[in-house]
Amino acid sequence: MIKIKSSSELEIMKENASILRKILDKVVSRIELGVTTQELDSYAEDLIHEADGTPAFKNYRGFPSSLCTSLNEEIVHGIPGRRKLESGDLLSLDIGIERDGLFADFATTVAVGKVTEKAMGLMSVTDKALTKGIDKVAVGNRVGDISHVIGSFVNEEGYHVVKEFVGHGIGRDMHEDPQIPNYGEPDTGKRIEEGMVFCIEPMVKLDDKKVEVLDDGWTTVTADRDLSAHFEGMVAATKDGPEVLVRGGL
Ligand code: MG
Repeated sequence: MIKIKSSSELEIMKENASILRKILDKVVSRIELGVTTQELDSYAEDLIHEADGTPAFKNYRGFPSSLCTSLNEEIVHGIPGRRKLESGDLLSLDIGIERDGLFADFATTVAVGKVTEKAMGLMSVTDKALTKGIDKVAVGNRVGDISHVIGSFVNEEGYHVVKEFVGHGIGRDMHEDPQIPNYGEPDTGKRIEEGMVFCIEPMVKLDDKKVEVLDDGWTTVTADRDLSAHFEGMVAATKDGPEVLVRGGL
């Protein structure tokens, strides 16, 4: 069942989303050659605590960190470690906070130093796919409309969406109904109503093979070990259209 948020819940979620935006901006400002993903994670965790929040990902089903840091062929759920950032890296940062009983969650992909044109193209398509998905968060539309516009746009551009992971509702739980795949049929799924809040998160790659999960049980990588990108936005359905609480982007 998709939970409708009250106006007071929405207010807190907006505040949490804006706090999370500031936190991730600060983390991104620390990105430079030679910095480790572990350092970015511990900085993020400190900032979340300073904001009187709890890191939503840490200990979630055993995940060890506050930040997911997914590099290059890593799509999502990369675990921060001692790997130093190098020029040409594509780094996806996914972050979540719980504060006053409500969650916020979003992700962005950052180009480290100078990246290839291929990498820029991939990021651009993923960013645009998120925008197109967000635009479908209109009262009366269906969840499949979001999925369809993302999947069809990405395919038309010659890339492929990840099918094994999905966007989701968010509120008093980090992952609520509905699941929002990045592909699907228009005019299918649940009807969108005012007060629903969704995390829409296109994950895009160059191959159309199944993803693989590394031995750590978390890090998800592309089958051909080529690049992927990931942007996530948190969007409320209002009577005036989609309201973006926070989103990653170029
Ligand atoms: Mg999410």
